[in-house]
Amino acid sequence: MNVAILGAQWGDEGKGKIVDLLTPHFSLVARYQGGHNAGHTVYVHRAKFILRLIPAGILHPGITCVIGNGVVIDPQALFAEVDELARNGVDIDDRIVISDKAHLILPYHRDLDLLSEARRGERKIGTTSRGIGPAYEDKIARRGIRVCDLADPAGLEQNVRDNVTARNRLVQDSTMDWKPVLDQMLKHAERMKPWIRDVSVLLTDAMRDGKSILFEGAQGTLLDIDHGTYPYVTSSNASIGGVCTGLGVPPKAIGRVLGVVKAYTTRVGEGPFPTELSGAMGARLRESGSEYGAVTGRPRRCGWYDAVAVRYAARLNGLDGLALTKLDVLDGLETIRICTGYRAGSRTIANFPADTGQLAQCEPIYESISGWDAPTKGLRRFDQLPAAARKYIARLEEVSGVPAAIVSTGSERDDVLRIADFGLRIAD
Ligand code: GDP
Repeated sequence: MNVAILGAQWGDEGKGKIVDLLTPHFSLVARYQGGHNAGHTVYVHRAKFILRLIPAGILHPGITCVIGNGVVIDPQALFAEVDELARNGVDIDDRIVISDKAHLILPYHRDLDLLSEARRGERKIGTTSRGIGPAYEDKIARRGIRVCDLADPAGLEQNVRDNVTARNRLVQDSTMDWKPVLDQMLKHAERMKPWIRDVSVLLTDAMRDGKSILFEGAQGTLLDIDHGTYPYVTSSNASIGGVCTGLGVPPKAIGRVLGVVKAYTTRVGEGPFPTELSGAMGARLRESGSEYGAVTGRPRRCGWYDAVAVRYAARLNGLDGLALTKLDVLDGLETIRICTGYRAGSRTIANFPADTGQLAQCEPIYESISGWDAPTKGLRRFDQLPAAARKYIARLEEVSGVPAAIVSTGSERDDVLRIADFGLRIAD
């Protein structure tokens, strides 16, 4: 059965760890959106791997890792990642597949990203400034350059010329030369060539042959371009719809959907965040959870678990199960709070609002639950959990409306409790 794993909060939920954990049950892992703004950190026997573009399944030998058309690819970032993995002993070359329809990030996209954030001033989005947004803008504006265009040097030249000229018009006093950009792309094309395939055909053939696929999301549902806290969102569909559009597979290909959530909430960048804790408790979560961006090093904003947001993600994605991560970060807290609803003035808000202004006005309705003294860090069996931790998990399941399939208790691959088999024949 094919399973989609995606973020059910504002990203950084620990998707990389869960993808890595479940990969042995699949033949292929396919990433469907985002770019190298993602940063999945995975620890295997204390060795740290940060995966940005390459699916987190790469750490298991023999698994084919697919980068779909919904992903935007910066070739330099891709090669840097491949080289770094190779230096760390991960065999890669014949295991990567890149969609011929994926759009490319060119050097001018990075400049445009910085420029657009600077022009927004106070209203900046808080992007990672890696050119992801401008590359998606070009895609939608139908002037983007795709991987398949690398095979047609004449067409590519025209395209690069037009795009660099347009960029020079946008950026004051800019005289960027298109020729070095073209030469660089042609050089990249040589290295990428063996990896380029029609991903839709590849995945369809794999399914026909009885192979199963793990669909890997980046960022999180609340950062989805359509369903997230717009405009403080990413430029792609991080929620379930992105699987079909970003890989060229039909909805029926998705067997189960697993939503990754932290046992609390974090977000990076700007935008409303109802359960944000700005004082000592926020700092406590940030430090115990090492809540600093894997790609940018930016401190993440931290707050209590927001069940309104997770219920929203559950509805949008049709979540079958939760992978609850970072339970151990709450170890030692006397009291833990869960946001079960929102209030705006005297009104109760039933659904996650579309309007970010309205979301910013929402006050969380909290319930308090007892914390636990005994550490959960590194526990691998459910019956070892302190009773209060079990109660907390049960309450999160109840208020989120989704059962927990996996609970993670540390950053290592095996720091995990498997609660439900999730249809995957996962042995304890
Ligand atoms: P992703 O982008 O969703 O994969 O998330 P990140 O990799 O940005 O952030 C998750 C971080 O939390 C990584 O550094 C993981 O190693 C770490 N992590 C994942 N699960 C756990 C857990 O259960 N406990 C602790 N303490 N850390 C975890």
